[in-house]
Amino acid sequence: MEPALRAFFAWCCCERATFVARINRWRHDQQRWLGAPQYRFTEYPVLTTPLTSAERENGSTFAPKFDADGLLTAVVVDDRTGEVLVVAHMNDDALSQTLETGHVTFWSRSRQRLWMKGESSGNVLTVRDVLVDCDQDALVIRAQPAGPTCHTGATSCFYRRVERGESGVALVKVKT
Ligand SMILES: [Zn+2]
Repeated sequence: MEPALRAFFAWCCCERATFVARINRWRHDQQRWLGAPQYRFTEYPVLTTPLTSAERENGSTFAPKFDADGLLTAVVVDDRTGEVLVVAHMNDDALSQTLETGHVTFWSRSRQRLWMKGESSGNVLTVRDVLVDCDQDALVIRAQPAGPTCHTGATSCFYRRVERGESGVALVKVKT
């Protein structure tokens, strides 16, 4: 083969490999960001009549009970280890978005806006299971974290223990 031709094919194959690698990387990212959250949820009904406590506690109707500020508490635990990762609040929109996208989304009280966990860091929490408590005003979400959940870089937001010693109460770091 002509050296020029050989050089051409070498370049061509190399470029092709780079291209395929890039496409695969892109596909991977798309799947990670957009695709196939394993938890999909149909829209929950908006109730016009209040449930009886028997219906609320034992029925099959999902009727999330928001507080006076329109919020409920959501505890997110690692689906694999059961470790508590973060506790925050959801309003109706945050809950809907969480159920529809499969990515945990809160209502940020300080910023007064929807806040998908991991929106800036990429460490999203992919929903695996949603549990509601007896009176339907708190959720436990089992999720798969894509990385450390806390903005400090800790695996869990609960990386300190409150300890009572002789000189009073202090915080001690724990491994998360
Ligand atoms: Zn945190």
